[in-house]
Amino acid sequence: MIEYTAKVKSFLSQDPIPFLIGGSWQKSSENQVFDVENPSDQSLLGKVSRANANDTVKAVERADEAFNSWKKVSPKERAALLYKLADLCERDAEELAQLEALDVGKSVNNARGFDVPFGIESLRYYASLIENKAFEKSLHLDGVSGKSVRLPYGVVAFIFPWNFPLTLCMWGIGPALAAGNTVVIKPAAVTPLSTLYLGALAQEAGFPDGVVNIVPARGADAGDVLTSHPKVKCLSFTGSSEVGKTIGQNCGFNLKPAKLELGGKGAAVVFDDADLDNAATGLAGAITLNTGQVCCTATRWIIHESVMESFVEKVKDVLSKTNVAPGMDEASEMGPVVSEKQLNSIFNYIEKGKTEGAQVILGGNRINVDGLKGYYMAPTLLQGTEENICFEEEIFGPVAYITSFKDEADAIRQVNSLDYGLANSVWTEDAVRAERVAKEMVAGNSWINAHNVFAYGLPYGGVNGSGNGGGVNSVETLFDYTRSLSIAQPVLVEELV
Ligand code: NAD
Repeated sequence: MIEYTAKVKSFLSQDPIPFLIGGSWQKSSENQVFDVENPSDQSLLGKVSRANANDTVKAVERADEAFNSWKKVSPKERAALLYKLADLCERDAEELAQLEALDVGKSVNNARGFDVPFGIESLRYYASLIENKAFEKSLHLDGVSGKSVRLPYGVVAFIFPWNFPLTLCMWGIGPALAAGNTVVIKPAAVTPLSTLYLGALAQEAGFPDGVVNIVPARGADAGDVLTSHPKVKCLSFTGSSEVGKTIGQNCGFNLKPAKLELGGKGAAVVFDDADLDNAATGLAGAITLNTGQVCCTATRWIIHESVMESFVEKVKDVLSKTNVAPGMDEASEMGPVVSEKQLNSIFNYIEKGKTEGAQVILGGNRINVDGLKGYYMAPTLLQGTEENICFEEEIFGPVAYITSFKDEADAIRQVNSLDYGLANSVWTEDAVRAERVAKEMVAGNSWINAHNVFAYGLPYGGVNGSGNGGGVNSVETLFDYTRSLSIAQPVLVEELV
């Protein structure tokens, strides 16, 4: 197990850890706190001041005041601040990785290798875009001379889930700040630590007071304010489809644009000509990464009937060797589930799935790791027909549900039989078939011979039950955080001749 760095120790020793409004670190106006637990052993990591609705209103007001000056800051200066923040995150990469491993339970090596560096890249990607991107386009039209201009909204509110707190935060605030908005961030109450640490780095980088505000609050406390306050001009929500519907409804009622990045139930279709070793390793990795608590990961494995037996043998072999260990253990390949509530929810699904006829062919049980009281479970494989709750609903744990298919049409039908539409993958050595199936699977992302493929410039988002937000990580995301303004005047006929 690795030692906490001195900065992590000092950060966690604050009692309570305050939140950030208008450039000042504050305690809850009602002195309330969240206990933040380490899911690897149930120890108390720290107490975080809990923001309430009044605190959230204050954060929105400070963000709105800050916008008056922030909107005059040039794209070049904004880019410089984002680069500076990226450099500071790199300086404190180990602290950020440790906080993520402690708070979420994820493997510290995964946090070092993906969560932190890929998050930092978001800041640099959007900084480079605003250095080079024109926010104004001249238009010479029939009888009209004009310009199409993109301007920041003002205050953008973010509500984030608990599974990738740091990376998702950087995916969101990178483009929003680059576009010239101020932000109010509501992290999930279970995993607020890395977001608060990031807030301190944003201050150190020199973002003016009130540009970045962070309010760890209960969902509904902050949600009601953020979806209705007239000074919040745009809201970005990442989380479950269920809560997303409420947020979308409230924003719709208040005519507020809402980006919704929601849940998923990704499928992986493995054809008979697939490289089965590659598929077994890739799909085992898909359910052990972040302990399967990944919105886009493959949790329905749709396998050609002729290779079912050999695929299942291979994937069981890989999964049985997974080292399940605490997040802070450098050898950990899969940590605990984030909380007792989440663990219970996963086992409820497994039990219901069994009563509906699913066979547990691997795992399905809680496991003891070194006598620790963490929320550990074994990677789990269920097998059965499509008529099963575990095929239909998002479980959000290290669990895959396996069905078989006879032909391509049957596989595509199974993939598209749910309302979710976030990410699927197809595994085959036939490039023409791969492309054809990739286009037939209805989702925001189709991956070939791999699952969970990300790059800046590659839009990542969901459709149908998985979201309507236009996604993240691309040029378009930057424009999602801007409003459109057309400036025009008629051109007199004499001027034309
Ligand atoms: P959740 O929907 O329960 O909570 C998400 C956030 O919403 C939390 O901060 C929570 O406090 C807040 N919230 C809850 N009720 C609210 C309300 N009434 N008003 C305002 N805010 C409210 O989701 P979760 O359990 O934290 O995260 C897991 C879910 O997130 C999964 O469904 C997963 O697929 C999804 N997710 C999606 C993406 C994506 O990019 N599409 C990424 C990560 C996670």
